[in-house]
Amino acid sequence: MGKEYKAGIGYDIHRLVEGRKLFLGGVEIPFPLGLLGHSDGDALMHALCDALLGALALGDIGEHFPDTDPQYKGIAGSLLLKRVKTLVDRSGYKINNIDIVIIAQEPALTPFKKQMKENICGILGIEHDRANIKAKTNEGLGAVGNKEAIAAYALVSLVKGG
Ligand code: MG
Repeated sequence: MGKEYKAGIGYDIHRLVEGRKLFLGGVEIPFPLGLLGHSDGDALMHALCDALLGALALGDIGEHFPDTDPQYKGIAGSLLLKRVKTLVDRSGYKINNIDIVIIAQEPALTPFKKQMKENICGILGIEHDRANIKAKTNEGLGAVGNKEAIAAYALVSLVKGG
């Protein structure tokens, strides 16, 4: 019998506004603008949660943590990821690997990628060679390129045998 794998994809985008702190990958990044949202707006963590939920065939982050529910007001993306991890732990699968793309025209995110990765690997209890984060701009195109928003994609694979 070969190993059984599951894969999931996640996407998120949040609007950049004044008067909010900028959180990405559980890192507070010094920047004059932050991401608008009912939660802390951490688009990277939200995309990753959705990718994990997708691999588990458990719907999406909005169903698990509704933005109409006051208990999730201002909630940290890292806390949402912790909750999703409990679902992975129960599934009989474990994380094989994670790949993330974060798209921000500004600020430059490369200096923060190491800490983001440490946060993610720490929360999920995985080795550092199982997670990758790529940061890129949108080449000045569209809302992301115009610094109105930051977007993230995440892909995960799970392997049977949690
Ligand atoms: Mg979100």
